[in-house]
Amino acid sequence: MNIAIDGPGGSGKSVLAKNIAKKLGLVYVDTGALYRSVGLYSLEHGIARTDREAIIKTLDDITVELRYENGEQHVYLCGVDVGDRIRTPDASMYASAVSALPEVRAFLDKIQRDMVARGGVVMDGRDIGTVIMPDADVKIFLFASPEHRARRRYEELLSKGQNVDYESVLADIVERDRADRERDTAPAIPADDAVMLDNSGFEPADTFAAAIHIINEKTNGSYSDVL
Ligand code: C5P
Repeated sequence: MNIAIDGPGGSGKSVLAKNIAKKLGLVYVDTGALYRSVGLYSLEHGIARTDREAIIKTLDDITVELRYENGEQHVYLCGVDVGDRIRTPDASMYASAVSALPEVRAFLDKIQRDMVARGGVVMDGRDIGTVIMPDADVKIFLFASPEHRARRRYEELLSKGQNVDYESVLADIVERDRADRERDTAPAIPADDAVMLDNSGFEPADTFAAAIHIINEKTNGSYSDVL
């Protein structure tokens, strides 16, 4: 059983994927954290987001590794756990910039395919249903209005003690959506066989219930006792 959850930033993919993983006994793989880690390296080395050549060159120096500790995914960049350093607004914009480069996507391809090969994963990202797991048993494309997503992201950043304002979080979301959707390589668009789920105004429990409903429809009710 493999589940792909794609969708734009702030749609609640990671909360949903974590809940599904817990209830269905699957391993949660947050692929955005991989792109964020590659972006973080450039950010911390003073490389401009627009400097494609320099970003590509960093791939010679970088190692990225996924480890599971107490059931939680950790990303090790050059042997060091990136922790929350990948969760700042700057790191988000760097992640989006580096993820548009085919060289970066190829670099992170194997790590993701190795996880798929283990089986039993719920993976979230932008191209999981289209590129990484085209044969996933269930594909969900989760989305919400930019305003709903910005509000969630804003509150999440505030709760982590970050000094942000709503308008700039919204502007970043809109800019990242555009860049992710319009890029040539692995654009962030739904797979033809993905089920679209609009969770504007939903609480996480509502999104979870809707997703379990979709999973049951796709698997002939295998998880009808989960809710
Ligand atoms: O999901 P998250 O917001 O953490 O992803 C950060 C960025 O990484 C996204 O804006 C997107 O550009 C990129 N990404 C991607 N493909 C994935 C996951 C994330 O291009 N599978």
